[in-house]
Amino acid sequence: MDGAEFRRRGKEMVDYVADYLEKIEQRPVYPDVEPGYLRSLIPTEAPLEAESYDDILKDVERVIMPGVTHWHSPYFFAYYPAASSYPAMLADMLCGGIGCIGFTWAASPACTELETVMLDWLGKMLHLPEQFLAGTHGHGGGVIQATASEATLMSLLAARCKAVRRVQASNPEQSEGEIFSKLVAYTSDQAHSSVERAGLIGGVIMRKIPTDDSYAVKGEILKNMVKEDKAAGLIPFFFCATLGTTPSCAFDHITELGPVCNEENMWMHIDAAYAGSAFICPEFRPLLNGVEFADSFNFNTHKWLLVNFDCSAMWVKNRADIVGAFKIEPLYLKHENQESGLVTDYRHWQIPLGRRFRSLKLWFVFRMYGLTGLQAHIRKHVGLAKEFESLVRADKRFEICAKVILGLVCFRLKGSNELNQNLLKRINDSKEIHLVPCQLSGRFVLRFAICARATESQHIQQAWRHITQLTFELLQEPDH
Ligand code: PLP
Repeated sequence: MDGAEFRRRGKEMVDYVADYLEKIEQRPVYPDVEPGYLRSLIPTEAPLEAESYDDILKDVERVIMPGVTHWHSPYFFAYYPAASSYPAMLADMLCGGIGCIGFTWAASPACTELETVMLDWLGKMLHLPEQFLAGTHGHGGGVIQATASEATLMSLLAARCKAVRRVQASNPEQSEGEIFSKLVAYTSDQAHSSVERAGLIGGVIMRKIPTDDSYAVKGEILKNMVKEDKAAGLIPFFFCATLGTTPSCAFDHITELGPVCNEENMWMHIDAAYAGSAFICPEFRPLLNGVEFADSFNFNTHKWLLVNFDCSAMWVKNRADIVGAFKIEPLYLKHENQESGLVTDYRHWQIPLGRRFRSLKLWFVFRMYGLTGLQAHIRKHVGLAKEFESLVRADKRFEICAKVILGLVCFRLKGSNELNQNLLKRINDSKEIHLVPCQLSGRFVLRFAICARATESQHIQQAWRHITQLTFELLQEPDH
């Protein structure tokens, strides 16, 4: 493909994507394929000779689309949203075109500098405390990680390193291995599995804290667990709070938890993967109160801020904690400006070396929507969730299982877990809408998350009609 063909094909691809998204409702939201479906549709070996682009494009509809779950269908209500917008897609295209790998400032100065400034812009939109911003002389700053899982892992590893250094400063005879075996981290029993995984990868004990009746962690419980563990000779060093838990969008009480962490010299990381985007709205910003106690904070702009995957925004109060934890300096990565104090080398802030020019997506989206446009998007989704909640509440056969704060509604039929499992199976088998379940206090619960940018009231109403029709059929059956 030469430049001339690329121009032509690129325009066609933009048309294909725009058509796909504009007509996405016409496709069943969930694919009708069996595991292994794809292997039989394509050759067993890569082609020896070049094929034509037209043949490849035809195969997108024949091979790929039948197996796609359409996350951007307005009838997709599963998990949490995957953000998508045209400006972000165009920025991604430019990122691919520039194709730089911005691991150090010198490896592509614009890639590094735009990222630092965009994370400051975003931090200001959220009214993060000044210490989290890089500015020109700040000690903190932001970085784009690929995912919230990586942000949690990075913060846990940085905290682990800090704890080992602290213990060794007063007990130089203790080996790193000895200290590791006593380190203990904490998180909610509602935290995302990636937090538990960070503990496994980091080789430390991860204790799960029981939550209150709103599925949130309270300060007192953490305080008591820390006391117990210290008495048993362990070293508490890290707590991961969640703002917007995955099962029910609950919010840990960080104004209580933060002071406990600060008193106990424990790193507090906040995982707000989904809910973080909402904090750009003044009415939801109080949910972030207590962030001033945290050492690191993260949320996924690629969930709810109209930035296509991947773009997970992470801030640290003290960049030296993270940079100092993993610094290795081979000659081929050194550059003459690195000691100037003016530049950031993001390779020290993350696990991989290579990194894409992801901040272009933030820049395009922030400028094309403005803060007001982004706030409108969040508010629209919250309004749709409230609309769905009202429909559920008006039907006496159903109950709401957790407070609806943002764009997630947890609901179930009053009755057994089995009944609700059957309902969900019917819903998902129909492929008209797609939901996933969660477990709350031992009960099987259906999660209805407002996901797509294109979701409107009519889709909520249609989804509810569909759910109640399937409920009617289910309850007609003799054994119910
Ligand atoms: N944390 C929370 C609270 C989440 O809800 C999720 C995913 O939904 C994650 C972490 C994992 O996100 P990621 O895929 O960016 O690692």
